[in-house]
Amino acid sequence: MQKNQLAGHFKLPPVDKQLDIHSTRCAKAAFLPDRLDLSHNLPASIPAFYRHFQRRQVLDPVRKIELIHKKIDVYYYYQDIYIQVNLKKKNGKKMRLGIISALHEEQQGLMEAMQDATTTSHGGRVYTHGKLWGIDAVCVLSRIGKVAGAVTATLLVEKFGVTHILFTGVAGAGDASIAVGDIVVADALVQHDMDASPLFPRFEVPLSGLSHFPGDHAMALQLLAAAHGFLEHDFMDVVDAGQRAAFKLQQPRVHRGLIASGDQFMHDRHVIQALNAALPGLVAVEMEGAAVAQVCFELGIPCAVIRTISDNANEDAATDFLTFVSAVAAHYAFYIVRRYCQGLAEHGF
Ligand code: SAH
Repeated sequence: MQKNQLAGHFKLPPVDKQLDIHSTRCAKAAFLPDRLDLSHNLPASIPAFYRHFQRRQVLDPVRKIELIHKKIDVYYYYQDIYIQVNLKKKNGKKMRLGIISALHEEQQGLMEAMQDATTTSHGGRVYTHGKLWGIDAVCVLSRIGKVAGAVTATLLVEKFGVTHILFTGVAGAGDASIAVGDIVVADALVQHDMDASPLFPRFEVPLSGLSHFPGDHAMALQLLAAAHGFLEHDFMDVVDAGQRAAFKLQQPRVHRGLIASGDQFMHDRHVIQALNAALPGLVAVEMEGAAVAQVCFELGIPCAVIRTISDNANEDAATDFLTFVSAVAAHYAFYIVRRYCQGLAEHGF
């Protein structure tokens, strides 16, 4: 089939985009060739990309195309040898990941790692859009608290078109079994300061019928894998021995459970014990996650919250909080988000 016969099938992006294997700008391919000759005229990145996806198995070229086709969309000309590969969400809508943190340190390094970054200021926040390890992403600092989290999440979806939201930050431990340096991933989130009783049950968001808002299961599983990968492979290299000793980080663990958010910095062991008793499965307390989860639930956007435990939510909580965030938690966030994005780029989402 000649190039000009195909031109009507789909619109081609500009020439400089043709070598971008993560390009997201072309229309759906309408055909599959009988045979694709990989030996000539291909951009160098394409055979490498096949190997990457097929884990170096030697496969017939057409079979490779079919396999790739199942995960992602492939666009190409045959004979004129001209290929486009798009990473796409399963339902056909391409993924754009919104990444929110409250504090600068919780996103340290991510903006610098972004390729083709552009920034937009809106409503007192700076949204940075670009590619993070192959994933189309928008990073933003919400600042602290539920309203800050909610408005940031809303704008990410409505103005910046994100399809998924990830919150990465620090939190106080919500249970005695959880230690500073551990990582928690939310399976659900609750607003612990929501109390319209006796009109509505404690914690229930009035007129929603809900107290617990879900975290997206698939995103949580991918984050758990990234967190385990971080602790196994990166932790000893990126958190130095001095910090490990200072913060007694022996064998950090990963937990999945309930995260409670409210507009208070929790620093009283009696308050945290009472909250733990009132909310079974509590793993962490923080100040934004449940607000983001409610927005995402209402807008139909999958969301995930991952937090590094920075304190025990007791009288010592404020001591060394900022040192921990910048010296330790910042590394956690960077390396976990990197593993998460690399996993998405490799295995799809
Ligand atoms: N001392 C900091 C303020 C941090 S507020 C400063 O001066 O900048 C705490 C932030 O970390 C919030 O974004 C919250 O989500 C999270 N967090 C960590 N530990 C917490 C705790 N014990 N209670 C509530 N939020 C906590």
